[in-house]
Amino acid sequence: MSITPLMPVYPRCGFRPVRGDHCHLVGEDGRRYLDFAAGIAVNILGHSHAGLIEAIQRQAATLMHVSNLYGSPQGEHLAQRLVDLTFADTVFFTNSGAEAVECAIKTARAYHQHAGDDHRYELITFKNAFHGRTMATISASNQDKMHKGFLPLLRGFKYVDFDDVAGAAAAVGPNTAGFMVEPIQGEGGVRVASEAFMHGLRRLADEHDLMLVLDEVQCGVARSGTFYAYEQYGVEPDILATAKGIGGGFPLGACLATERAARGMVFGAHGSTYGGNPLAMAAGNAVLDAVADDEFLAAVRARGERLKACLEQFIGNYPELFELVRGRGLILGAKMRIEPRGFVAHLRDNHQLLTVSAGDNTLRIVPPLVIDDSHIDEFMDKLSAGAASYQPAEAA
Ligand SMILES: *Cc1c(COP(=O)(O)O)cnc(C)c1O
Repeated sequence: MSITPLMPVYPRCGFRPVRGDHCHLVGEDGRRYLDFAAGIAVNILGHSHAGLIEAIQRQAATLMHVSNLYGSPQGEHLAQRLVDLTFADTVFFTNSGAEAVECAIKTARAYHQHAGDDHRYELITFKNAFHGRTMATISASNQDKMHKGFLPLLRGFKYVDFDDVAGAAAAVGPNTAGFMVEPIQGEGGVRVASEAFMHGLRRLADEHDLMLVLDEVQCGVARSGTFYAYEQYGVEPDILATAKGIGGGFPLGACLATERAARGMVFGAHGSTYGGNPLAMAAGNAVLDAVADDEFLAAVRARGERLKACLEQFIGNYPELFELVRGRGLILGAKMRIEPRGFVAHLRDNHQLLTVSAGDNTLRIVPPLVIDDSHIDEFMDKLSAGAASYQPAEAA
């Protein structure tokens, strides 16, 4: 037998972390790595946040799981907090981002079909989007590499260019149920939607009675410098998917909706065995305790601005490697002139710096939101040393 016990769908690297220490990871070999990947934008409080650990330990010892057959004081509390903090009136909890997006897709379809418009099932989505790995969420993306081997796709998605309002308007037809978009594309290369685009989608949605669905699984929960990125546009969605940072490392996601948008989500319409269990709710509440705070958000914006300014100055020294810097808050990307994977491996293996590659040749920088100036300085030192020592030939 040659297949590995862990299904070999990930080309895992040789680094094997065994312990987290705030914004660093410690490998099996005892070496410390600066973690500016944060479990792919998940560990927003770093790896050893006392409040999060304490909340999970306490809840684990009290009650972990009971199913959604029973009332949930913990769930009601977290849902109420999310309602108070956002555009939403109601929340469905999930265990992952893809499930949050699935619930968002179902909510958008049900909005129309609950009113008898069974033909309105199509969501207009945007090229190079990433919405997850379930059948519906891969179908929502135009990226062929995620489709290969899994055909046929689910019907009901139409792809248009990101940031193209005219393209989105032209795609609206009798089957359209809504738009689904990441305000900041994460996997697609940290590409930030323009104001005109977000306002244009909201206007089209209002004109045609369509659902505006935002996928803030990656850019949400303080990462962009506001609690959700949509706040920076002055545009409110009808439905929003959130996950990654919201559990701080514990698997948790949610689909948020207005009362109007959720009109089809009636008794029996949707469900999840684990979704919103007391343990997950304890994690989510502990994360909100830390991040749903004006001072915390202002600090994310300040750190993001400093890091972005450092990066912009730095790339001027390496015009053959880097083209530009983009992003908001602490979801930043440096677009490279080379395939970034080799550089990411070089930074990791030779400079103990963890980053992630993304689409459009982008080096993605998504640190814990609790970094301070010393971490930014350490990051810039390692990045500079990495750029100076990089021989693109070693790229795999
Ligand atoms: C990561 C991600 C998802 C999928 O989340 P999973 O927890 O991996 O299922 C969906 N949408 C966006 C924008 C993401 O970044």
